[in-house]
This record gives sequence, structure tokens and C-alpha cells, in this order.
Amino acid sequence: MAEEIIPVAVCGAAGRMGREVVRAVTEAEGIQLAAAVDHHEIGRDAGEVAGVGSLGVAIEGDLESALERVRPHVLVDFTVPASVLGNARTALAHGVSPVIGTTGLTPSDLAELDRLAKEKGVGAFVAPNFAIGAVLMMQFAAQAARYLPDVEIIELHHEKKLDSPSGTALLTAQKIAQARREAQVAPQPTPSGLIEKAPGARGARSEATGDIPIHSVRLPGFVAHQEVLFGGPGQILTLRHDSTERRSFMPGVLLAIRKVRSLSSLVVGLEHLL
Ligand code: NAP
Repeated sequence: MAEEIIPVAVCGAAGRMGREVVRAVTEAEGIQLAAAVDHHEIGRDAGEVAGVGSLGVAIEGDLESALERVRPHVLVDFTVPASVLGNARTALAHGVSPVIGTTGLTPSDLAELDRLAKEKGVGAFVAPNFAIGAVLMMQFAAQAARYLPDVEIIELHHEKKLDSPSGTALLTAQKIAQARREAQVAPQPTPSGLIEKAPGARGARSEATGDIPIHSVRLPGFVAHQEVLFGGPGQILTLRHDSTERRSFMPGVLLAIRKVRSLSSLVVGLEHLL
């Protein structure tokens, strides 16, 4: 039996990640670009914008009318934190499964999307990081934290990234905090009388980071990188992952496009699809 072609809309199609998704979808077997939405490059062919030649799909400005017209199965969203929740609500209202890479969704946003997905009986998927190496780094970090509970995270991204800390850093911190709780281990107590001569010098720590310090670096030249540093008496363990090109995220995005229709609620994290 011939494989069904999955029609996909890409929101943020003129952005850095969106253009990469348009390229990946074009080259993938069994997936077809059905619509492309962005605030920029409206009217231009999405393939031309992505550098793969004309695809006959013009970038348009309104997601809802695009979904109503082409009725895709999946909406891939790589937009901005302020847009992502609204886009996902629109997709689910039309019975379209969102595959979300945009960071910035809060736990209550995720709970709402899970409820909407269940109400509609369609799958939805969010991955703070679509790179398999980054997923493995998070798993290794959780493993190491059981034995080396003193840990800090440094995440490094390009200067145009809007949110900090990164979704990957937050998720890594949460996994480490959970592993420490399960293993009943705790980091060294912070010495009293600390002097932070510049606020934030010791990194950001809050309930959301599981009280693990996260240091965010934003500089031209970086794509997406993270180091998890574990310290113990006389030893340091460093786990490092580097996405040097945005195509590192594409196998994960294509996997999510192929699998999201088989889900019936919201799933968060690529590790659940592997
Ligand atoms: P980008 O280059 O700024 O692209 C985002 C594009 O989306 C922009 O053209 C933006 O237009 C457009 N946009 C915003 N709201 C929209 C809406 N409601 N409808 C249609 N288009 C809209 O950003 P990027 O570097 O591609 O990153 C996109 C997101 O992906 C970020 O949140 C980033 O952190 C995340 N990311 C995730 C992963 C992962 O593996 N999960 C990997 C890399 C990046 P405006 O300029 O008008 O806002």
C-alpha cells in the first residue's frame, strides 16, 4: 500500500529555523509542504526563501486562513515565545496537530494544550530540543547527578535568541533536580556571606531551575550549545553538546511530523518518540 503523504504547514517559515524546516520537509519522503506562514517575505515562494527553489507555496500572513484553506495534518511552529501558544490553540481548534519547537511555553500553557489536544482527540508535540545529541546529554546529566549532585549549567546561543535561559537548560535542570531527589542526594550548602559584585554573576537560580545555577551566554557565532559541569572532590565531569548547524534539529522534527498523528494528547520531549 502506498504511504500516505503528510501535508504540513510551517509557521515562522521565513525565520532561521522555519527555512531549515522548509528545506528538510522538501527533501523528506512522504511529507509535503502545504502552507507557509510568517510576518516576513509574504507573497514570496517559501522554497525560494529557503534557498531550495520554487515549491509553488507562497508565504502568507494569516495562520487561521491558511489552515482553513489547505487543511494540513501537522503545523510545525518555530516562531517566537509571544506567538506560540496562540498558534497552537489555532491549530488544535482546526484539528491540526502542532509540532512545536518554539521555546517559552509555561507549565500552565502545556497543561492547556494537553487539555485541548485530548478534547479534539489529536496529538500535539513539544520538544525544547530536537537534536538527538542534546536529548542524550540531558539523560546522561540526570544519570550523573545521582552521584555528583554539585552541578551548574552553561548554555550558549546566538545573540538573536529572545528567551533565556534556554528551554533545554531549564529541562536539563529539572531532570537533574528530579534525579537528585530520587537518589536522595543534595549539593553542598552555599556558604553564607557570599558577595555578588555584579548581580547574576553566579548564574540564575529559581524554583524553575530546580535551584541549579544556569549561565546564559548570547554571542554572534554560536548556534546552540550547552555544558553541564559536575564537580566533586578532586574531579570535574563536563558534558557538552554543540549544535553547530540548524540541520542538527531536522531528523527530530521529521520524526515528530511522522509520529504526532499517532498521539492523542500532548507529549513533551523527543525521548518519548525515539
Ligand atoms: P526567527 O529567526 O526569529 O524566526 C521566527 C519567525 O517567526 C520570524 O520571522 C517571526 O516574525 C515569525 N513569527 C512570529 N510570530 C509569528 C506568527 N504568529 N505567525 C507567523 N510567523 C510568526 O527565530 P528562530 O531562530 O528560527 O527560532 C524560532 C524559535 O525556535 C525560538 O523560540 C527558538 O528558541 C526555537 N528553537 C528551538 C529549537 C528546538 O530544537 N526546539 C532549536 C532552535 C531554535 P517576527 O520577526 O515578526 O516576530
